[in-house]
Amino acid sequence: MRMKETQPSNETQPNKADMAKELCRYLLWHRSEGTQALLQSPAPKPLFKEAGSGPSEKSPSAQSPSAQSLSAQSSAHVPLEEIRAHMGDCRLCKLCRHRRQIVFGAGNPKAELVFVGEGPGADEDAQGIPFVGRAGQLLTKMIEAMHFSRDEVYICNVVKCRPPDNRNPEPDEIEACRPFLRAQLASIRPKVLVALGKFAVHTLLSESTPITKLRGRWREYEGIPLMPTYHPAYLLRNPVEKKNAWLDLQSVMQRLGKPLK
Ligand code: SF4
Repeated sequence: MRMKETQPSNETQPNKADMAKELCRYLLWHRSEGTQALLQSPAPKPLFKEAGSGPSEKSPSAQSPSAQSLSAQSSAHVPLEEIRAHMGDCRLCKLCRHRRQIVFGAGNPKAELVFVGEGPGADEDAQGIPFVGRAGQLLTKMIEAMHFSRDEVYICNVVKCRPPDNRNPEPDEIEACRPFLRAQLASIRPKVLVALGKFAVHTLLSESTPITKLRGRWREYEGIPLMPTYHPAYLLRNPVEKKNAWLDLQSVMQRLGKPLK
């Protein structure tokens, strides 16, 4: 059941200075995504620059990489902590009203394997760490069965703030948060991505084919091999699908040179 939306109290309403900061941040992100029409010159310095580019005489518009040129490679090496600092107390979407804290991500910033889920739940919201509830415990078991530890991999979500009443993230929320996910993946540049569940898969692949048809088939995200599979929360509700999920993960293990036993 979806929780009734309530008007935010005055305490949670951003003030004008906060709103100005958020607008600036929003424009900056759009600039990094190549949507130049939103900006009149001069624009704030983009978070991402083309690899190897130094100071330029080009116009602000020409200096900004297009969405295509902002491949994971070209925008790599922005440290995760810098991305997190850039987010600040993000209020780019309505999920900010209900969260306790932003759940950015956790794990090895140089991980060869990254798991992307949907969004934080109540436990994650309370602890500020992704995948720590029941579904998280199952994910931990899956990771360990793959001969990794949680510290060796990186785990994050499509949206960084908890949707109220654990509802699904809405399209505008996913879009608002997408640049942060993109920046994280560009920074880590893993060898393999595992997309957990339909929201992660659809967000990373920008398509809406049912997860049942996508799972188990290798795809690519910005040049990174991507394996779509079921979300651990779905597996808790449908344990019969664990077998298929394990097949997907074994394919990942093979790709990363891990022993299958
Ligand atoms: S979900 Fe993402 S975009 Fe929305 S407020 Fe949280 S960090 Fe910002």
